[in-house]
Amino acid sequence: MVKLLECRLTIDECEALRLADYEGFSHEDAGEKMGVSRATFGRIIEKARKTVADALINGKAIRIEGGNYQFAEGRRSFKCGACMHNWVEPCGNARPETCPECGDQTLGRMMPGDNE
Ligand SMILES: [Zn+2]
Repeated sequence: MVKLLECRLTIDECEALRLADYEGFSHEDAGEKMGVSRATFGRIIEKARKTVADALINGKAIRIEGGNYQFAEGRRSFKCGACMHNWVEPCGNARPETCPECGDQTLGRMMPGDNE
């Protein structure tokens, strides 16, 4: 068996690719959805594209880092800033607008490893 070389993509980089390249959002809109500035989004997507290009050109496997289990199950975790309720959404779903528990709009993405 040949062991594939791996390169790593973070969950956020994966999400950036999904929003900009798969869904077709502008960097500004995509950044807003991820809760980051357009400039920050630009840096995330640039790194993500470079990683994917590296994988394609050099035949590497891509590992989604920092919470593989979350991505493997196709889910993203969200947390309400008002009532602290947290829940998961399937990866393909749009980012929820309001908390399903209290209806508040102060939602945050839970980062991998954030097990509060
Ligand atoms: Zn809530």
